[in-house]
Amino acid sequence: MSRILLTGANGFVASHILHQLLARGSSVRAVVRSQAKADRLRADHPTATAAGGQLDFAIVPDIAAPGAFDSTLASSTPPIDVVIHTASPFLYSAASKGSDFLDPAVQGTRQLLLSIKRYAPSVKRVVITSSCAAVVDFDAPVAGGRVYTSEDWNPVTWEEALATTSLPTAYRGSKKFAEIAAWDFIRDENPNFDLVTLCPPMVYGPLHHTINSIEELNESNSRIWKLFINSSKDAPLPLNGVHLFVDVRDLALAHVLAAFTPGASNKRMIISGAKVSSQDISDILRGKFPFLAETCPHGSPGVSSLPADAYTADASPAKEILGLEFRNVESTFVELGEQLLEIGGRNS
Ligand code: NDP
Repeated sequence: MSRILLTGANGFVASHILHQLLARGSSVRAVVRSQAKADRLRADHPTATAAGGQLDFAIVPDIAAPGAFDSTLASSTPPIDVVIHTASPFLYSAASKGSDFLDPAVQGTRQLLLSIKRYAPSVKRVVITSSCAAVVDFDAPVAGGRVYTSEDWNPVTWEEALATTSLPTAYRGSKKFAEIAAWDFIRDENPNFDLVTLCPPMVYGPLHHTINSIEELNESNSRIWKLFINSSKDAPLPLNGVHLFVDVRDLALAHVLAAFTPGASNKRMIISGAKVSSQDISDILRGKFPFLAETCPHGSPGVSSLPADAYTADASPAKEILGLEFRNVESTFVELGEQLLEIGGRNS
């Protein structure tokens, strides 16, 4: 039985990774920031956390602190085989300046890799959740047919990310420089483990973890609630933002496959399912839930709000190496919509 360390285990993406790892029989040490978060996760997985079960917890309050992961890694019995690192700030409401993103993302990654090298020689692979935010040039035109690949990096500089008043720019910098720190570590430190980085665009889909109110939604899904479900039919159609997306369940499977597929060694892979415009999202939601006619911006139904040659990203290496397939767009937004309506108390 494999033993996995999963950071940010209570998050939107990681909760699905945790569920899939437990379902395939892995033993997981879940890293969260507080006992309260461990207790909540425990309640979501009562069988796995029973005595002798597959799931235990480590509390790491500050992942950027020197030695933050030392005792967590050194004390694991049985020893850890694979580390999956998802923890990184993404909630814009929890940040006010560039360093709120950059420090935990970059130092957190570096401290984790240092601790693995020093205290967990059993670890053979590290999988890191990066992002298309580290890949795409957001100042470049959307039209023009560009196809981003794993060779591409956004042009944000460290100085810009640190000094900016634009939190999305700081987030993009944090994903880029955290990922670079990981690849530099592999090159310079010659550790006992290899690395896989996964770059998803927007991640949407139903939650696997329990939240108590709609205010606790993660960043990407809160966009669907605020801009599409709980808005107004007369509001302008939201900007397309990042028009590429992947379903959270497909992304979680990509992490699990990346953890165990030999051919993924030292690969950077884009995990992108499909293009989706704001008009597509509005049409799917209003089509499935007619009572949203009053609160979901209508736009121009049936007319895509994206240029036909909007940029895409090449996920073919992930399909070939991992054997990954992507579910259809409609199922993601319908299943997410159903859940958000229930959490938000909106059933008519
Ligand atoms: P969530 O906010 O749901 O989860 C983020 C996780 O990271 C939580 O466990 C959170 O812990 C932890 N975290 C946040 N800030 C810190 C910090 N300063 N120190 C330690 N831990 C921290 O977001 P997602 O699940 O969506 O994101 C997971 C990963 O996926 C991130 O790396 C993100 O960049 C990446 N990603 C997400 C996309 C999306 O659209 N959702 C798109 C592309 C990449 P806590 O609960 O304690 O705050």
